[in-house]
Amino acid sequence: MREPQELPKLPLGLFPTPCCLLKSISARYGRRIFLKRDDLCGVAFGGNKVRKLQFLLADAKNKGCDTVFTTGAAQSNHAMLTAACAARLGMRCVLFLKARGVMERRGNLLLDELFGAEVRFVDTDNYAVIYDAMVELDEELSRQGHKSCAIPVGGSTPLGSLGYVECADEIARQCPSVEHIVCAAGSGGTAAGLLLGAKMYLPGVKVTGIAVDTDPFADIIPQLAADAAALLDQPLSLEEGDLRIAPHIGPGYGQPNPADTPYIEEMARLEGVLLDPVYTGKAWAGTLELLRKGFFNGSGPIVFVHTGGASALFAMDLPHEGAPAQEA
Ligand SMILES: *Cc1c(COP(=O)(O)O)cnc(C)c1O
Repeated sequence: MREPQELPKLPLGLFPTPCCLLKSISARYGRRIFLKRDDLCGVAFGGNKVRKLQFLLADAKNKGCDTVFTTGAAQSNHAMLTAACAARLGMRCVLFLKARGVMERRGNLLLDELFGAEVRFVDTDNYAVIYDAMVELDEELSRQGHKSCAIPVGGSTPLGSLGYVECADEIARQCPSVEHIVCAAGSGGTAAGLLLGAKMYLPGVKVTGIAVDTDPFADIIPQLAADAAALLDQPLSLEEGDLRIAPHIGPGYGQPNPADTPYIEEMARLEGVLLDPVYTGKAWAGTLELLRKGFFNGSGPIVFVHTGGASALFAMDLPHEGAPAQEA
């Protein structure tokens, strides 16, 4: 059996991140809630992709790659953080972004440019089309003597998920009485790593993924966790209730939900913390709604993982219920 620290990893972020009690929110909702501040991990505006990239880019470097490809929607946080990390490592970064969502030069697209990444828009809803475009560029680059590696959407591979095994280890030290860990689930790697990490370092702690997209997370997350466990030669036997998935998608993936805006405002005004309308705002609104319904059994602390994403606040509107919808 191995620990994630024993695998090759680049020190791209500032870890451990803080884990802070939300005093005012906890008093208001009658439960101690801690925020694991992965938005404060020292790269750009922070975010969960940095922990994954520490493993994924170490692997790419070890394989001799000088170029990294990745993909996502136009405003992808993962793509932006890949651009930032690749830049620091002196690697060329090509982003194959779906021509979907906010495509103007703001939010993460502005940052992609700032980090020197090359953006190629692909007009498709199908990631298979994007991976074909990557293969084509990979072949062209290899003829020129370069070597590229493609990081899948969200960095959600078993190797990337190990970043969140480490996060669970940090939570175990910072908040040992934690009873529930909650995070947004977009491609599933974060929840998968937390699930495996909870098994390793926080037995009995339950992980809840708040789904912000419609993928079959009840299959994806346990599979990623099992494959990540295999990388560590760790046994993983999941029991009923170790992982719970609760959807909070609103009008659709990537589209702000007017009903979440009051929760985003409450967090900003009571705690001075920024949530985004695509991931953390939805996950947080979902968490508080579940808390009210008695979903989080026991009385021990809940740790909500702040997975970043605040740059979306500079790309899209925060709609209010009843107000006329504004084009993003
Ligand atoms: C990518 C992302 C998530 C989702 O994490 P997954 O590991 O893909 O499930 C959550 N929050 C933010 C801000 C993200 O960028």
